[in-house]
Amino acid sequence: MKNIIIFGAPGSGKGTYSDLIKEKYGISHISTGDVLRAEMKAGTELGKIASEYTSQGKLVPDELMIDILAKTYDAQPKGKGVIFDGFPRTIAQAEELKTMLAERGDSLGMMIELLVDEDILMQRLLNRAIEQGRADDNEETIKNRFEVYRTQTAPLAEWFEKEGIRNTFSWEQYPSKEAMIDAIFKVIDKENA
Ligand code: ATP
Ligand code: MG
Repeated sequence: MKNIIIFGAPGSGKGTYSDLIKEKYGISHISTGDVLRAEMKAGTELGKIASEYTSQGKLVPDELMIDILAKTYDAQPKGKGVIFDGFPRTIAQAEELKTMLAERGDSLGMMIELLVDEDILMQRLLNRAIEQGRADDNEETIKNRFEVYRTQTAPLAEWFEKEGIRNTFSWEQYPSKEAMIDAIFKVIDKENA
């Protein structure tokens, strides 16, 4: 099975759809946000550094993230493919991921982009703040995360386009979780046929 990079703004549903894809295809899932939250919870040195950035909605520096990603990837069971959720978030991370996978005889696979309007995203994240109490889900930090996404991450979509692996799904086109995941499954099946 091809690797999958799931790409989208904060609150676009990367974690939700990753879980559904994982369930259907038995593929493994790397969420860099989850890795960082586990480190912060455990109070490790890495967690302490990460919290300085995540609490402000800033990106953790590329060098650190690339290291974390490579370690996490190497610890995964091989052969079934991996979903990368929340990585890459910068062009430098994307270039490194491509190189790292090539060095291991693997490739990027396919990219799935989730497009959702910012006002819907804000509402979802504020609801999640009530349900899950994530430290970075407050209005001020969310605004910073959107800004970081617009300036540092969104331009990456073009990079994937040039790689010829971009698949875009918009909430306008598929305005329910069911419609969205259905369309995503169809494209994954087609890519792996
Ligand atoms: P959602 O989980 O709803 O999609 P999100 O994309 O903002 O929202 P995570 O992916 O969980 O959330 O990331 C949370 C924070 O962790 C980011 O705001 C950032 O500070 C840090 N982070 C996660 N992945 C990376 C990365 N690849 N590069 C730099 N920082 C990262
Ligand atoms: Mg997430």
